[in-house]
Amino acid sequence: MTLLTDEQQEIRSLAQRFGDEVVAPGAAQWDREKTFPREVFTQLGELGLMGVCVPERFAGAGADYLSYVLVLEQISRADAGVGVTLAVHTGAGTLPIVAWGSEEQADRFVPPLAQGHEIAAFALTESGSGSDAGAMLSRVDGDGRITGTKQWITNGSYAHSFLVFAKKDGKPTGFLVRRGAEGFAVTREEEKLGQNSSSTADLAFEGTPAEQIGPDGAGMRIALSTLDGGRIGIAAQAVGIAQAALDVATAYAKERVAFGGPIGRFQAIGHKLADMQTEIEAARALVYRAALLKDAGKPHTVEGAQAKLFASRVARHWTGEAIQVLGGYGYTKEFPAERYYRDAKVTEIYEGTSEIQRLVIARGLLGAIAS
Ligand SMILES: Cc1cc2nc3c(=O)[nH]c(=O)nc-3n(C[C@H](O)[C@H](O)[C@H](O)COP(=O)(O)OP(=O)(O)OC[C@H]3O[C@@H](n4cnc5c(N)ncnc54)[C@H](O)[C@@H]3O)c2cc1C
Repeated sequence: MTLLTDEQQEIRSLAQRFGDEVVAPGAAQWDREKTFPREVFTQLGELGLMGVCVPERFAGAGADYLSYVLVLEQISRADAGVGVTLAVHTGAGTLPIVAWGSEEQADRFVPPLAQGHEIAAFALTESGSGSDAGAMLSRVDGDGRITGTKQWITNGSYAHSFLVFAKKDGKPTGFLVRRGAEGFAVTREEEKLGQNSSSTADLAFEGTPAEQIGPDGAGMRIALSTLDGGRIGIAAQAVGIAQAALDVATAYAKERVAFGGPIGRFQAIGHKLADMQTEIEAARALVYRAALLKDAGKPHTVEGAQAKLFASRVARHWTGEAIQVLGGYGYTKEFPAERYYRDAKVTEIYEGTSEIQRLVIARGLLGAIAS
């Protein structure tokens, strides 16, 4: 039984097929060799999946946000690194230009992004400011030139358009920077625990020309409203990773023989898989609820934080238990369970840590006294 519309089901099937046939077969190698599979994003663009919820007017597919998170779940089920690339490209790099840019900026920047000809990035974090993003040191001068550095920027080494936050007259403000602009450099590609098919890079700006997006001092509003939606996407990514782990563990439980029969007949294994499936479904329901609220134009800050908090914990916990079901094989690279475990952890960190999600939820309950 599904509550999805025909169109949502079609989009999900398209992403599932692409994930199974094109993404999953490359995932282990991309992880091992730390390869960013650029051609996959060109293909996703051809299918309309690089801008699935971008309005048709800007060359997107014009579908709703729920369709977009269904795509993220399926692509992340195949490869979480490809999933985060897509999530940041669309949710954090492209949609804020539609929401906050002028008509002319959106016309210029968005179509090549929505079609997958170009890739987008979102540059907020610095070495000294992550959760406390307002403490950023990057600044813009009177001629609109940015000086500063950004750290751990997803898609950093491959993006063409960067949404960059820097202080103007002491207040965080949004800017758009093109790759190759004067004084712009990618200074380092990070080494990570997982999601090795994604790029996480440090950036430097030295008097780099930038065009402002949104009003003076609106940087934190742009960043936080972007993250409100982005978190639903990361929650969907976490659900996709957890589902992949459940699929592997279930198949293994049917095949692995111990003490004269398949291990799935042991209640300890069966109940573990039952709990895993139930919690994944609960996480998925939270993701759908938050996406539906966003589609309805209703507040979704708390619901998105709840979806991310819960789904990331489900993914981190149950990918570990999937390894347990596979025993020693689960700890080896012969099976993907160990990759899912490494990939899952960061869903509790980026686009707001779990502690920050709890802060958002507590503020919804308690108001400003919560800190
Ligand atoms: C793989 C990867 C990709 C990323 N991609 C991007 C990207 O594309 N763009 C971008 O801008 N950033 C990106 N980031 C940065 C990411 O968003 C930050 O790492 C995250 O917001 C946390 O910031 P921090 O690492 O500086 O941790 P800190 O803010 O230093 O936090 C350290 C610890 O203190 C806790 N803490 C901090 N403040 C509070 C508080 N008020 N209450 C309770 N606990 C608190 C945190 O929860 C955490 O446990 C990425 C990071 C990684 C690892």
